[in-house]
Amino acid sequence: MNGPIASRRQLLVGLSAGAAIPVLAACGSSPAEARSFPISLSEAEWRKRLTKDEYRILREAGTERPYSSPLNSEKRSGTFVCAGCGNELYSSRTKYDSKTGWPSFWAAIDKGAVGTSTDYKIGYPRTEVHCADCGGHLGHIFSDGPKPTGQRHCINGLALDFRPA
Ligand code: FE
Repeated sequence: MNGPIASRRQLLVGLSAGAAIPVLAACGSSPAEARSFPISLSEAEWRKRLTKDEYRILREAGTERPYSSPLNSEKRSGTFVCAGCGNELYSSRTKYDSKTGWPSFWAAIDKGAVGTSTDYKIGYPRTEVHCADCGGHLGHIFSDGPKPTGQRHCINGLALDFRPA
């Protein structure tokens, strides 16, 4: 058996090795998949939890057809949460009709609710937006939104669940 000092050293080595992984992964260009998030399920667990269409959007960064989501016309007051993990993402107070066919918001519910990365999927850089808790892909943020932020969070309805107030 090792003494207490050796055990502690082994523990420290283990911790620093573990801590290095998320830092390295965060440098990659791939958004949600490569990073570590507070809620982390295996691919099989996500497939079990989500519908096929939700999986395609949230876990494979897919895009739903415009005007296909009932949440596009949702006008009640309430909160839009992540369809993957329930994290509160957007308030009805910042929802507006962008006429794009996707639920649109000019801000997230709070600073820590969503994260962003740069996406080159269609050849030029776009700001990808994902759930900060589970990394699920939500949509993109554009700079043609209304005041006061000028942002348009263009969100797949399949990535959201609506909780009326
Ligand atoms: Fe989530």
